[in-house]
Amino acid sequence: MPARRPLATAIALSCALAAAAALTGALAAPSLARGLVPLALLLSLAASAALVLVWRQASSLSGALAARDALLNVAFLSTAALMLTRDGRISRLNEAACAMFRVRKDDALGRPFADLAPGFDMALLAASGSSNGLLENDSGSWTGRRSDGSAFPVGVQFGLTPGGSDEDYVALSLADLTLRHAAEAQARELHAQLNTVWRLNSLGEMAATLAHELNQPLSAAGGYLHASRADMEKAGSLGDSACRTLDLAQAQLLRAGQIIRRIRAFLTQETGALAQERASVMVENMKQILTRIGQDRGVAVHIDMAGFSDRVQADCIQFQQAVVNLVRNGVEAAAGRDGAEVRILGRAEVDGYRISIEDNGPGVADDQRERLFQPMTSTKPGGMGLGLSVTRTIVERHGGALDLHRSSALGGAAFFFTLPLDQEAEAA
Ligand code: ADP
Repeated sequence: MPARRPLATAIALSCALAAAAALTGALAAPSLARGLVPLALLLSLAASAALVLVWRQASSLSGALAARDALLNVAFLSTAALMLTRDGRISRLNEAACAMFRVRKDDALGRPFADLAPGFDMALLAASGSSNGLLENDSGSWTGRRSDGSAFPVGVQFGLTPGGSDEDYVALSLADLTLRHAAEAQARELHAQLNTVWRLNSLGEMAATLAHELNQPLSAAGGYLHASRADMEKAGSLGDSACRTLDLAQAQLLRAGQIIRRIRAFLTQETGALAQERASVMVENMKQILTRIGQDRGVAVHIDMAGFSDRVQADCIQFQQAVVNLVRNGVEAAAGRDGAEVRILGRAEVDGYRISIEDNGPGVADDQRERLFQPMTSTKPGGMGLGLSVTRTIVERHGGALDLHRSSALGGAAFFFTLPLDQEAEAA
């Protein structure tokens, strides 16, 4: 459009000049006036039309410029931004930057930026080898220092001005990273808690398995000792000493059984209290951890938890442990496929809140299903085979049942369970 403006201007000018020439001709030679006057009128009309075109183009261009100006203003005002001189002093800063550091503009102008972000050094710009980008220090982000002495993490993007003026040498755009850092710290803490719970849960599961497996041989050994004692009693005084020894052995067997049961009860924290929780919130709070688990193996993890009728009685960290276990398994199953994906779905149903974790891995063969839930069953090199049995125990402790079928949406495995709704909380 703008390229056509000079053409329209030239046409307008030529038509106006030609119209003037025709009028002059008509005045000079009245005999030709009959032909020249209509021609002059026609040319004037053409000149006017060309002028209207020029005017319309000019006004639409100034409108576009004004819109772009407004856009730049909004972008500039909402981002904390400042300019530095070649030696690192603040030559300009906007209101958002003043608010970020809680300084008055006049107090900040002319000060070294290193006063606001200790450790900042102009030499880093040259060392970056680029004319723009993210400027990081050894710990990643900078520490901003406000005028009241408080500190906050700040991210710095830079762009060298074209031409490299001494006064406006580099533009910085700043981002307050406090919220992001807090969210990361929260995710780290949750991760550490989940690791601890995982260790306790798997120890508990192993103790439960040991207790179950040892119960039979211990009872059998007890039975044999009882039979031996009956034989020894028949041997009269000669057998008395052996009987006493057998009693001691029997007592030790009973003690072994008690020890295993006590360890199991301790590790599985059977007394863990349930509290009123929202299933969607418990999962959403793990978003960062779950996304990271997927990213490590190139698998997209999608969370789609309906946020209504989702109040359940739960031990939050145990519930989260169950979901993490299932997501990790899904990620491991789907990893390496094109468009590898795990979905966590939560929906309110008539019998409770149903959660399913589905993937597009190979799925599980029908004849393998029940076996997978048994402790120490694994198809992975180095796998402990405890994840599903721990998860099943947790789900059952929450009044649900862990089950599995083929995912109709993704084609891989779909592990699911339904937790009873907390009726009181839902009614309130
Ligand atoms: P581990 O992960 O240590 O093997 P688990 O008890 O979590 O222990 O899983 C047991 C087995 O169940 C796995 O080795 C794997 O063969 C199978 N499995 C679990 N989840 C899936 C899944 N989403 N898709 C296919 N197989 C799975």
